Amino acid sequence: MLLSLVIPVYNEEEALPSLLRALRPVLDGLGCEYEILFVDDGSRDGTRLLLDAEAAADPRVKVLGFSRNFGHQAAITAGLDFAAGDAVVVMDADLQDPPALLPEMVALYERGYDVVSAQRVDREGESVFKRGTAALFYGLMQRAVDERLRPQVGDFRLFSRAAVVALRGFREQHRFLRGLVAWLGLKEAILPFRRPPRVAGTTKYPAWKMARFAWTAVSSFSALPLKLSLGGGLLLSGLGLAYSVFVVYETVVLGTTVRGWSSLVCLQLLFSGATLTAVGLVGDYVARIYEEVKGRPLYVVSEAVNVAAYVAPPARGLRVVARQQDAAWVAGVEPAGRCPR
Ligand code: UDP
Ligand code: MG
Repeated sequence: MLLSLVIPVYNEEEALPSLLRALRPVLDGLGCEYEILFVDDGSRDGTRLLLDAEAAADPRVKVLGFSRNFGHQAAITAGLDFAAGDAVVVMDADLQDPPALLPEMVALYERGYDVVSAQRVDREGESVFKRGTAALFYGLMQRAVDERLRPQVGDFRLFSRAAVVALRGFREQHRFLRGLVAWLGLKEAILPFRRPPRVAGTTKYPAWKMARFAWTAVSSFSALPLKLSLGGGLLLSGLGLAYSVFVVYETVVLGTTVRGWSSLVCLQLLFSGATLTAVGLVGDYVARIYEEVKGRPLYVVSEAVNVAAYVAPPARGLRVVARQQDAAWVAGVEPAGRCPR
């Protein structure tokens, strides 16, 4: 059996040495063949140098280099597209996903599970803010979006070949892999673990990226926000109608003059705010549809080391080779030479 590890990395020069040190003994102890497929998501520090040195020394270390930063989910997608293993484990580069769990994950895979998900029962060293928003996120996602989503399960998972092949079929631009896994509904085992703090370096998921990710998760799996805005709009319209009836009653029956410009301004603001929010929400969905319709590749691989599926670059010039589903490969960016005079 061949085990593939898929590790997305983005500016992880500080964490990589510890990661490799921790991985090797565990992988060697597994007694099966393995490959470590690093997906360099456009790092700008010394990550590539470290990875290239590692790959030069050991052909089981493979590197896919993106032309720029395409994001964590795109990096995982590329890893799944190019992993050759019978089982594929996706893990972070910062040792927050402990390699010590690998033997148990493989054992569960051997017992016939297609997906083995590591579940964070404790998050040491993460801020109250991160824990709080994570709890809110999982709670909201499960209730509002998909009840099959597992709480506190991130992307640290083992996938069988069948699961990987199924996942390759999803080519949507706005990706929430955990949702796709839940959608597949394959036989899944849950493995609880305590999540240690990041070994070195800083998080690559600042608050704004997390918020964007959460919105991708919600909007790619549910039209609930649209329904909520419709409901809110209807409610406001109802209130507006009731108030209008009251004003007419006040004027005609009670004979009191209409008072209070301020309340009018408040109402006006409230209603235009609600309208704009609803329009913005629809706009966001339309923009996402637009991006899907364009059907662009999910990532561009500009370099690859030790990856079997890699095609040798053409002798000269630039060629975009469509490989593995609709991933784009830009291979052989060689100067075409000078024009003869
Ligand atoms: N990562 C990536 N591209 C990005 C952001 C992150 O490939 O744009 C990688 C990162 O190097 C790490 C993993 O995704 O291996 C998870 O990121 P991080 O540990 O910073 O997230 P956190 O654990 O803080 O949520
Ligand atoms: Mg981390």
